[in-house]
Amino acid sequence: NCSKEENSFSKGSLVRFGNMEMNPSSGILNYGQGVLEGLKAYRKEDEKIMLFRPELNAMRMKVGAERMCMPPPTTQQFLDAIKQTVHANKRWVPPQGKGSMYIRPLLLGSGPRLGVGPTSEYTFITYASPVGNYHEGTLNLVVEENIYRATPGGTGCIKAIINYASIYKAITEAKTKGFSDVLFLDAKTGKNLEEASTSNIFIVKGNVISTPATDGTILPGITRKSAIEVASVLGYKVEERAVPVEELFDADEVFLTGTAMVINHVDSVTYQGQRAEYKKGADTVGHNIYEMLTGIQFGRVEDKLGWTVELK
Ligand code: PMP
Repeated sequence: NCSKEENSFSKGSLVRFGNMEMNPSSGILNYGQGVLEGLKAYRKEDEKIMLFRPELNAMRMKVGAERMCMPPPTTQQFLDAIKQTVHANKRWVPPQGKGSMYIRPLLLGSGPRLGVGPTSEYTFITYASPVGNYHEGTLNLVVEENIYRATPGGTGCIKAIINYASIYKAITEAKTKGFSDVLFLDAKTGKNLEEASTSNIFIVKGNVISTPATDGTILPGITRKSAIEVASVLGYKVEERAVPVEELFDADEVFLTGTAMVINHVDSVTYQGQRAEYKKGADTVGHNIYEMLTGIQFGRVEDKLGWTVELK
């Protein structure tokens, strides 16, 4: 059913990574009934392993589950699964400076149903993989004018599995032309910036930082939220509003935020054949936010906001 009830998932177990069984007529395989999450575990200098705001991922999965007519795991079940997964793979969490452990929770419609509609069985799993530091090479984006990743009333604001393969065509075509990623526009007017394929966008003009407001079509990134909070602590003015695509041509800096990259400066954006270039490096707003955010994550900066959770 589509109730908001949390599910009492049966007690899970740790199993070696490998193939899993799935009913051929399951909701996920036939109709894409599923949501995903993504978060990281970091190793501090003193070897302690920390999670970054994992309760926000649990909350986002709940919102997504409700939209996709699935019962979510409780916050406790979500956190326990993550902690157990990281704990079991502790020795694979890279040393400080060498990367982190990426954790991927999945909530899937696993019950059989031939017709379109919610199934009666759900599977919640998490797996993890060590990842290196995000590549800090040049980042040249192109504004996508034909493919939209989200529509009003659609699933753009949740981490629905169906949101991703639908943008492969845009990403692949951009890469063929030599760009690193695409920037999507809003489907309603085609005039305002939304986000990149797996990250949120910020533009900087003077001391003001602007980012598109999450009004139903943009994924509310946890790094986005954290960057906004850090920016305020650092004394910057942050505006969450509609950001017309033309503002790309008047910005000093543009950066992307996401769990994988944390914060990544954009070198250039191309829109309708016109290219704008941006500042990057040590004396930028994005760099200051990056330093504080990664400082908290890796334990180099005191976590006054209580964002990190130690893995016991
Ligand atoms: N937008 C999209 C479409 C994404 O897939 C992601 C990655 N989860 C983000 C933004 C960034 O979100 P977060 O900071 O929570 O990783």
